[in-house]
Amino acid sequence: MKKYNIGIDLGGTKILCVLTDEKTNKIDFEVKKKTKKIKGNKNVIQKIYEAIDELLKISNVNKSQINSIGVAAAGQIDRNSGVLLYSCNLECVNLNIKELLECKYGIKTVVGNDVEVSAIAEMIQGAGKDYNNMVCIFVGTGVGSSVIIDRKLVLGATGTAGELGHTIVQADGRMCTCGEAGCLEAYASRTAIETRIEGMIKKGEYSIIADICDTQNISTKHLKEALDAHDRVVTKCVDDAIKYLSVGIANVINFLNPELIILGGGIIQGIDEFYVKTVRSSKEKSLLIASEKTEFKKAELGDYSGVIGASMLEKYYNAV
Ligand SMILES: [Zn+2]
Repeated sequence: MKKYNIGIDLGGTKILCVLTDEKTNKIDFEVKKKTKKIKGNKNVIQKIYEAIDELLKISNVNKSQINSIGVAAAGQIDRNSGVLLYSCNLECVNLNIKELLECKYGIKTVVGNDVEVSAIAEMIQGAGKDYNNMVCIFVGTGVGSSVIIDRKLVLGATGTAGELGHTIVQADGRMCTCGEAGCLEAYASRTAIETRIEGMIKKGEYSIIADICDTQNISTKHLKEALDAHDRVVTKCVDDAIKYLSVGIANVINFLNPELIILGGGIIQGIDEFYVKTVRSSKEKSLLIASEKTEFKKAELGDYSGVIGASMLEKYYNAV
């Protein structure tokens, strides 16, 4: 009988839930549910149940055919207990996802942080499959990253290793959501670019972005449109973000000398120029010998890296 895994990507705007072939990790069925208005432990777990139930129904697969459930969650995770300790977007505190899913479905469940789960997916099935040592950096609403050495995720003493987004690139710089000043995330994330553009417009500078969208809700698509139109404000803000991001990446290259840097996330995938300039500038800023053998690749699994990694999580959990 064919065996499957369930992979769930639990994000602030949607739950993506897939059924993958246990042998090939290919997605056979998928269900997507919006979570934008779903807040709090009770509502979030209910939505996960709904997604799994629907997946089982449309696929006509019996629970006994499912080997494991893996969950990639945007937030702080206790890997051992499978508890989502805190998620700002979902307004969840101490949600015991592992226990609740194991109780309801009787299927072994593992839970990981979305960035590390995506990094595992890229290592196993994406851009990193032929490499041993790599750093995955995802640039979107924040800057998330994970370090993989000898094909094992580096966790650190308290499990927070690889927080490139909160390395400080400007002493006494802009305030970051973590409470510290000058973190990379406060300069290079899409949110940082958005805040900066809004600030410049408020000071009276003209940008076409104000004509094409709400400046409090700028998407990557809008940024690209403004860049293509050579908008001065947007070009400046994006170039500054690239400058700081490449400072962060050059530090990683000099410090770790990795074989590969995988760049992913909405802004990297959506704006080719952003990727190309980041790679060029990161190499320019790092030591020649350190960067000599460091290759750059775009993440290959896109929006599916979370679910694919989640579906493989039980199998590769010893690597986590
Ligand atoms: Zn920070």
